[in-house]
Amino acid sequence: MSTGWKPGIPAPTRDDLNTCVQCGLCLPSCPTFRITGLETSSPRGRIAAMRAVQAGEASVEGDFTRFTDECLACRACEAACPSSVPYGRLIEAARIQTEAARPAHDRAVRRAGIAGVMGHRRMVRLMGLGMAITQALRVDRLLPKRLRLATPRVTVRGMRTPLPASSGEGPTAMLLTGCVMDIAFRPVHQATIDALVRGGYRAVVPRGGGCCGALAAHAGELTSARDLARKRIAELEQAEVIVVDSAGCSAHMRTYGHLLADDPAWAHRADAVAAKVRDAVEINAPPGRPVEGRVAVHDACHHLHAQGIGPEVRRTLRAAGATCVDLGDGGRCCGAGGIYNVLEPAMAGELGEQKARAIIATGAPVVAVANPGCAIQITNHLRALGSDVEVRHPLEIVD
Ligand code: SF4
Ligand code: SF4
Repeated sequence: MSTGWKPGIPAPTRDDLNTCVQCGLCLPSCPTFRITGLETSSPRGRIAAMRAVQAGEASVEGDFTRFTDECLACRACEAACPSSVPYGRLIEAARIQTEAARPAHDRAVRRAGIAGVMGHRRMVRLMGLGMAITQALRVDRLLPKRLRLATPRVTVRGMRTPLPASSGEGPTAMLLTGCVMDIAFRPVHQATIDALVRGGYRAVVPRGGGCCGALAAHAGELTSARDLARKRIAELEQAEVIVVDSAGCSAHMRTYGHLLADDPAWAHRADAVAAKVRDAVEINAPPGRPVEGRVAVHDACHHLHAQGIGPEVRRTLRAAGATCVDLGDGGRCCGAGGIYNVLEPAMAGELGEQKARAIIATGAPVVAVANPGCAIQITNHLRALGSDVEVRHPLEIVD
């Protein structure tokens, strides 16, 4: 087993690693460190492990891969760091390394799931159909618990709910239809289209559509992430505004310029598309209906830490008359983390349960959640605790 980074593929850079002064101020904000209390589960420990590989003192395989896999990539540490360590960039590059170091059969299985299914709209819809049928027949109860907790509720009717190709007048705003959002959260898409029309846009749903590549990037599948970014750029670049109603996807699409920076044919187009991305809660449209009472607010990590979005969710809800209730957990990750809840079920389960308990403790009948991964994780953990608190995207609540 050789030490140092695998050659020929991206790796955390020395400059980025050197920004960490090892002060430890990020430790209390790290959910995995809070659970284990171990330095190796902390941002400082993970950066130290990256430095050891960088210095040729350790290999990518083994412990390094384990420390990296256990990170949620929630970027709470980045928000807490006084030295502006670009942790998100570091962990994404580290994951490209760990992915390349996995045994071939392991890599093939992960690639088949991420690139083979999530990368193709037809395959995503086929997967959705499979979920809908197994859930309708209630045979999904035979699935391992970790898969059940990570699976959205899907119905054939919901998947077939049509979305209008074009609505309203004004500047053209194209909607990213996405992968999981397209099969399980079409009402969120409809609420976003409605908000765009109220906000004075012509809302356009592009033909085709598909995954933005966030899940692939999260898992270190660089080739798939780049291929999907190119597809979405070609599909959406004519729009004046690109609207994304999933926090993980809007955060990822804002990094397209960085993702394709070394591809001369695409770098400019990627930068231009990234600059047009708006998360749906940034539309600032008037509400479609009044909302009375309390709404608990879960801040998705990819809103709060990756994009600095938080006030926008509350402003959207308050404009409709809702009383926003914070969860009082400092915006801690719910444990969804892309497909983290499938790959690291123990840690994800503990975080999911903590989040569900924090929501129940507010006494609010509904919780605003602007990311599909969080919505699935939170819904399943609420139901596992016997709670019927509704989980809705903020735009659905005011639609
Ligand atoms: S990541 Fe930032 S906060 Fe954490 S130890 Fe390094 S410098 Fe300190
Ligand atoms: S990204 Fe999240 S889980 Fe990973 S080190 Fe930072 S705070 Fe901890």
